[in-house]
Formats: sequence, structure tokens, C-alpha cells
Amino acid sequence: MSEVTVGLSVPTVGSLLDSAFMLGFFLAALFVGSRIVPGRQIDGYDVEGNLHSYRFNGLALFVLCLGVIGIAQFSDWFSLSTLHTHFVSLFIVANVFAFTMSSWLYIASRSQKRQSISFWRGMFFGVDAGPTWLGVHLKFFSYRPSLIGLALLNLSFATVQYETQGELSLAMMLYQGFTLFYVFNYFQFEHGMVHTWDMVSERFGWMLIWGDYVLVPFFYCLVGWWLVDPGFDLSPLAAVVITLLYGFGFWLFRGANQQKHHFKRDPNRKIWGHPAKSLDGRLLLSGFWGIGRHLNYTGEILIYLSFALTAGFSSWVPYLLPAWLATLLIHRSRRDDNRCRAKYGELWQRYTQKVRYSMVPFIY
Ligand code: NDP
Repeated sequence: MSEVTVGLSVPTVGSLLDSAFMLGFFLAALFVGSRIVPGRQIDGYDVEGNLHSYRFNGLALFVLCLGVIGIAQFSDWFSLSTLHTHFVSLFIVANVFAFTMSSWLYIASRSQKRQSISFWRGMFFGVDAGPTWLGVHLKFFSYRPSLIGLALLNLSFATVQYETQGELSLAMMLYQGFTLFYVFNYFQFEHGMVHTWDMVSERFGWMLIWGDYVLVPFFYCLVGWWLVDPGFDLSPLAAVVITLLYGFGFWLFRGANQQKHHFKRDPNRKIWGHPAKSLDGRLLLSGFWGIGRHLNYTGEILIYLSFALTAGFSSWVPYLLPAWLATLLIHRSRRDDNRCRAKYGELWQRYTQKVRYSMVPFIY
């Protein structure tokens, strides 16, 4: 068993250089992979009404990445525990990258268009809705390092636990299963991204860039930290209850997102066995969208709550993750309602009269 330090180590010049190399290599590999690995092309519009063609090869890249890391791990070329020992350095390097990328995009797109936008607004929200570099759509691409990075950091916690304790706890196995499936499922339904808020309503600036390269990988793995050495394990009964909650959350989250995606591609598609009901063929009234206006958000919050529950109740810190997501998504549901009211006008009003609740029927 190798010696592994459990905890945050102070960054040194050497660890920062190592981290810069690891991050650079990881991003370059994913970027080249995004260009050359075959995948379906699907079109989607951005906030300015421009049509983009996205290539969906994220699942292949994720599986390839896991395969390569798995071979490296079992051949002793590289240990995932390195990500754990370099966590702070990687976090610093990822921040430098995110700030550099935002500034570069701001300068590059500012010189091309929208001269009237203020500096702060342009930097924070971005100027360009769909910047591309060497043929790769940068906003769409950035979810890949974000979520694959999250999965690898999560796996590093399991590696550290195994290397220090010789086995994986039930809580750790459950957490790894939940999070790996969550990332796998994102890539399985990567095509659904074309109708999401980020793709249709946002430009690409610091907010999304920092979210993708720093917030998601380094904060969304919070529960994993807790599970490395928590001093307890889950009972099998608790594991079953948490798995049921996770399954229910997933059913809502993926079900609602899929129904909307299918409806947008084909308004006549059946939902729960019946032809989809809608308002003027534009707003879906069947399935989850006839029960709540944002049950996909509710489902995702339950998924994150299940992640936190694997850490038990010994600390409130893991619960910062679902609390954060709930705050973000409640805020977003209001922003989205405002956007849809402006876009659909009277039709949206009719929709909100028929579907009165947003995230929790009869409550909110
Ligand atoms: P939605 O997928 O709910 O998309 C909202 C858009 O869907 C609206 O702007 C509108 O756009 C369209 N729409 C709304 N109601 C209807 C309806 N009844 N019929 C047809 N179209 C409708 O939201 P997001 O893009 O915000 O989220 C997508 C997923 O990403 C969610 O599952 C969310 O939980 C997840 N997410 C995760 C985050 C994380 O950090 N983990 C952060 C943010 C989101 P249009 O103009 O196209 O009609």
C-alpha cells in the first residue's frame, strides 16, 4: 500500500508546474478528441439566433478517458491519488486558466462586435454567444473538462481511500456509483444540451467559464472529500433508502429533460403513451411539464441531496452542495419564468394558469 496524505497539501512551485502540465494535457487531449472522434451533428440556436452545429462525441470521450486513466492506474504509470494530493495546486491553475480564457474571449470578441457593451457585463456574461476555436464550439466543449474533471476528482477520493485503508466503504461505493452514473448519463443525453438555458440564453463569459472549469469540478466533489476518512459507514438499509431517493430524483430530472427535448424535435411525439398536449404546439402540457414548470430542477436537487446523504449526518458541510444547487436553481427558475414571459407573452400566462407550480406541486 502506498503512502498517501489525506488532506489538503500546501502548493509548491513543483506541484503548481505539475498541475499546469496535467491540466494542459487533459484539456489538449479532450480538445483534439472533440475534433477528431466521430459523433452525430445536431443543430441548435444561440441567444442571437445564430445556428450552430454541435458534434456529440462526449460519451465516447468520457469512456476513452476512463479507459486510458484505468490502464495508467493499473500499470502504475499514474495514480489518480495524484489529483487528490495536487488538489489545491490544480484549483489555483484552473482559476488562472478560467480568468485567462475569459479575458482572451472578451478581448477577441469585443474587437469584432457589440462595441456598446460595458466592460463588466462583457467580462462577466460574455460578449459572444457561440465562440469557436479551430472548429470547436467552446461553450459546448467546456462541459467536457468540467464533468470529466469532476468524475476524475471523485475517483481520486476512492483511490485514496483504497490506498490508505485497503478497501472501499459502502458509502464511498454508493457515492462513486451515483456520481459516475450522473456524468455518464449527462454524456449519454448530451444532445439534450441544445435546448438548455446555457445554450439558448447565455453568452460565454467568466460566469460560465469559471463555473465549468472551477466551480463544478472543485466544489461539486465536496462530498467525496468527506467520504475518504469519515470514521463511519452507512448501514445497508440507509444505502437502500438513499438509492431510492436518487432513483426518484433521476426519474424526474432525466424524464422531464427528455420529454422537453423530444417535444422540441417532434411536437407530435407520444408522452407517457399519449400524444403530447401543448399550447399552440409551442409549450408542452403533458408529462412532467403538465405537473410543474421545473420538475427537472427538483429532480436534480434530489440527486445532489442523495450525494450528500452518503456522508451521513456527522457534518453539515456536505449539505452545502445541495443547498447551493437549490439556491441556484430556484433563482434560475425565476429568471427562466421572466425570460419565457417575455418570449411567449400571453401564451406563457395561459401556461402558468394551467401549470401553477414551478418545482414542488402545491407548495412552490
Ligand atoms: P430547462 O431545460 O428547464 O429549459 C428552460 C427552457 O425550456 C425555457 O427557457 C424554454 O425555452 C423551455 N420551456 C420551458 N417550459 C416549456 C414547456 N412547457 N414546453 C416547452 N418548452 C419549455 O432549464 P435549464 O436549461 O436551466 O436546465 C437544463 C438542465 O440542466 C436541468 O435539468 C437543470 O437541473 C440542469 N442544470 C444543472 C446545473 C448544475 O450546476 N448541476 C446548473 C443549471 C442547470 P424555449 O425558449 O426553448 O422554449
